[in-house]
Amino acid sequence: MAEDLFCKIVAGEIPADKVYEDEDVLAFRDIKPQAPVHILIIPKRHIAMLADATEEDERLLGKLLLVASKLAKQEGIADSGFRVVVNNGPDSGQDVFHIHVHLLGGRKMGWPPG
Ligand code: 5GP
Repeated sequence: MAEDLFCKIVAGEIPADKVYEDEDVLAFRDIKPQAPVHILIIPKRHIAMLADATEEDERLLGKLLLVASKLAKQEGIADSGFRVVVNNGPDSGQDVFHIHVHLLGGRKMGWPPG
């Protein structure tokens, strides 16, 4: 039984515009993009949030970032610049409790983030 929205996407129970998949990781376009490129990179295995990850997840967490970098090149935003974001918990605005890396790019971004 899929336990959260992104587990359901991994299980194929909810459709998604997939851009990358391997045995550990899935990446798909955000349904409500905040930039011309807005992709979510998730582990297939359920981890609710970054604070729940352990040393056993070290390789998997590294892979999420490497896939983000690969996709930035594929999407043509590697040279113009891009941002990766991991929201964790209430103050960050995390909505979906399945760890995900946001890859955002294709427009100029402000700092500090809102
Ligand atoms: P969070 O706020 O948890 O860091 O980000 C969750 C993200 O998931 C949001 O940017 C939201 O637009 C996206 N999202 C929520 N539901 C769906 C969905 O059903 N499909 C896709 N592709 N993205 C979703």
